[in-house]
Amino acid sequence: MAMTGLQIFKLLPKTNCGECCVPTCMAFAMKLAAKNAELTACPYASEEAKKIIGAASKPPIRLVKIGPPEREVLIGNENVMFRHDKTFVHEAAIAIAFADNEPLSELGHKIAEVRDYCLERVGEQLRVNLVLVDNFSEEVKPFVDLVKTAAGSTGMGIILRSANLEVLEAGLKELPGKRPLIHAATSANAEAVAALALKYNAPLVARAATIDELVALTTKLAALGVKDIVLDLPADNPAATLQYNTIIRKAALKNAFEPLGYPIINFVTALDDASLVADASTYLCKYGSIVVLDRMQLEVLLPLMMLRQNVYTDPQKPIQVDPRVYPIGEPGKDSPVLATSNFSLTYFLVSGEIENSGVSANLIVVDTEGMSVLTGWASGKFTGEKIAAAVKASGLQDKLEKRRIIIPGYVSQISGELEEALPGWEVLVGPGECCDLSSFLKQQAAR
Ligand code: SF4
Repeated sequence: MAMTGLQIFKLLPKTNCGECCVPTCMAFAMKLAAKNAELTACPYASEEAKKIIGAASKPPIRLVKIGPPEREVLIGNENVMFRHDKTFVHEAAIAIAFADNEPLSELGHKIAEVRDYCLERVGEQLRVNLVLVDNFSEEVKPFVDLVKTAAGSTGMGIILRSANLEVLEAGLKELPGKRPLIHAATSANAEAVAALALKYNAPLVARAATIDELVALTTKLAALGVKDIVLDLPADNPAATLQYNTIIRKAALKNAFEPLGYPIINFVTALDDASLVADASTYLCKYGSIVVLDRMQLEVLLPLMMLRQNVYTDPQKPIQVDPRVYPIGEPGKDSPVLATSNFSLTYFLVSGEIENSGVSANLIVVDTEGMSVLTGWASGKFTGEKIAAAVKASGLQDKLEKRRIIIPGYVSQISGELEEALPGWEVLVGPGECCDLSSFLKQQAAR
């Protein structure tokens, strides 16, 4: 059960030494109660405190690790219902399913596509995380062959899906130390599948037809010693899946209901691409920790990758790039300088448009603490004075003969201030929208 700050405080040493990076034991206790700190930060906590507070601060949704150490996927450990409450901690894994009744020669090609898929956006590489091997053939050999191919080719974590224990164990034997996710324990086979999970130290999916059945199943698995569980509660339609996901998350977070305190796996099998994207998007937003797609399709993955990145970006920590000068192309003494903020999305859009224009330029990125241009201007972090200070500190003044600086159209009001702060520079107001930047630069170059 959750403890209050005062209850936790009573168990702390009360010396206010500050070694936990918080000035007082009371302040540290409040942070622990809010699950914003870990007791390990206090080197003087007694064994009794560790026992009592440790149990109380247990995450409401268990952290589950899947896959080999070098491509480990972490899911769970979430503390909030809504991203804006604080942040979502571990992004949902996207998995692609392959059936073992298809020819291995064709599957090898498709699996390579999964391995090589990489979308670069705002400086991050977005990839598929897991491969599910489905025992459609109901035979051991094709399953094992596909497991070997998928694991060997991609190096990713594998989800082993079969109703046959012999098949599951054959797959597990191929992946020692690689923590594949076993799909699935049911009320009919719980003991036997739990024994496999414990023998091979692998996480396990608990699959049931109703919430009550699922609660009984996870309770049984936990009693058998299985700790790393993922929940699978299939539904007739996406709306029902969304409802189940929400009930499970709420029960874990609001009621600290341990039998449902595990991450969720959702399967998406829509016939058309639009429905596939819509259903998978729903589960990525609420509250699927693994979303399994029944096929690898680039036009489906693109929106899902972007959505996932947005949902799982910490709203309190905007993605930033280093504030400095970025030469684009081969800027010379007459090349223009463009000013922008250090919000990653802005930086990558602006730098991309400069590249597209074919005009070499210096892009000076001002430290706005990750805010966009307009937000940075509104909070006094993207002003004429700040831009001028960044230009002076960069050394560009000495390198350029033709001193021209282009500012974003949305902050045209700072052009006068910038002219005053940068004597000898021509200040130009660029377009408001990034998509117009390329043609603007070409026109300027032709002047
Ligand atoms: Fe108190 Fe421990 Fe923090 Fe020191 S390190 S202030 S004893 S909680």
